[in-house]
Amino acid sequence: MTQFNVAQFKQQFPLLGLNVENKSLIYFDNAATSQKPHCVIEAIKQFYETSNANVHRASHYLSSKATTAFEQSRESVKTFINAKSTKEIIWTKGTTESVNLVSHSLGLDRLCADDEIVLSASEHHANIVPWQLVAQKTGAKIRVLPVTASGIIDVTDVDTIINIKTKIVAVAHISNVIGKVNPIEKIIARAKSVSAFTFIDGAQAVAHITVDVQKLGCDFYAFSAHKMYGPTGVGVLFGKQSILESMPPYQSGGEMIKTVSFNRPTTFNTLPFKLESGTANISGVVALAEAISFIKPYIQDSIDYSDYEKQMTHHCYQQLSQLKGVKFIVEGEPDIPVLSFLLEGHHNHDIATLLDSYGIAVRAGHHCAMPLMESLAINGCIRVSLAPYNTIAEIDVLIDTLKRILQKADSFVETNLSPERVK
Ligand code: PMP
Repeated sequence: MTQFNVAQFKQQFPLLGLNVENKSLIYFDNAATSQKPHCVIEAIKQFYETSNANVHRASHYLSSKATTAFEQSRESVKTFINAKSTKEIIWTKGTTESVNLVSHSLGLDRLCADDEIVLSASEHHANIVPWQLVAQKTGAKIRVLPVTASGIIDVTDVDTIINIKTKIVAVAHISNVIGKVNPIEKIIARAKSVSAFTFIDGAQAVAHITVDVQKLGCDFYAFSAHKMYGPTGVGVLFGKQSILESMPPYQSGGEMIKTVSFNRPTTFNTLPFKLESGTANISGVVALAEAISFIKPYIQDSIDYSDYEKQMTHHCYQQLSQLKGVKFIVEGEPDIPVLSFLLEGHHNHDIATLLDSYGIAVRAGHHCAMPLMESLAINGCIRVSLAPYNTIAEIDVLIDTLKRILQKADSFVETNLSPERVK
């Protein structure tokens, strides 16, 4: 059992010492991308300084060194999410490419007019738009599971919405705006009962909770390295081996073939290579293994780590609740430290810009979830997303700064928009 020590954890992130506007940076945009620890940055540098070569293709020393590190990373991912085999781990550029891979390979191949794809109202655009494009091409229809007042996927009508016409169900494990764990076990069970494929977008889950794809029983699970302390430009698609075997190639070119001839049809490589074409982000893949070694003991073995996340979430939620004009977009405290709210009478972007001028990084806007905004009848919100290198003291700075901003806005209104001046 590892004891969680915030100061020690934070020390490993060089960029967190940065000064912004003469104040030390408070980074509360972790759901967009997390900061990177020294070991991940060092792994990228080390790869280029000691092992750089293309993988799989040559029999020389450097190539086999690079290939070994590249394939060891696949092994790390397999263990991290408890897949059965490394054949089930496909490298992609990120969650977005993983959705595109499955929707365009499996979707285009299997869907027919009047088949149904089930998504939820809280999906990120990455788990909507690729399915819409495939639906347009195949004539399939998209059906949407609504969200409850507390923001999780509503499973009340799951037996009607997921029915014998459903061929694919694709939902997020945790929404990037709401921060609550969706009832995916129920959704997966219902999808299985009608023999529909299940795709889980795990982009926001892997840095916070243990993911066991065998226990979940989903057909596909996708995530991005950069949201779990790894580099940008690397993602993972887990797929059950028998399903991946049956899927046609997604992108084509080098690496993914067995034989190419102008006289015979091209034949394809075995898994996982059949679904990976061209040169991958090799240094990024190698650095992902480092990110996993870094974070896995915290997520999977340290109760303190998740307790600390919960403590921060609770504190931030309580403190924000007490601020005048704060309105959370859904009811109840989130499961992971992602808090989305409005400040009545203020534009979301104004607040984010003002906070930035105090060295506090938050995000404002639709967060790539326009259908969710539409279903909540808002056009955006402010999102504060924390990581365990953040502290209670930083949350208190955010609250004090918001109070100052609100006070200034109030006194501006009093001085400039008093009835006498407005006349
Ligand atoms: N799904 C969710 C829930 C996300 O939060 C994100 C990133 N914000 C994505 C998908 C897309 O991930 P990426 O941009 O790394 O492909």
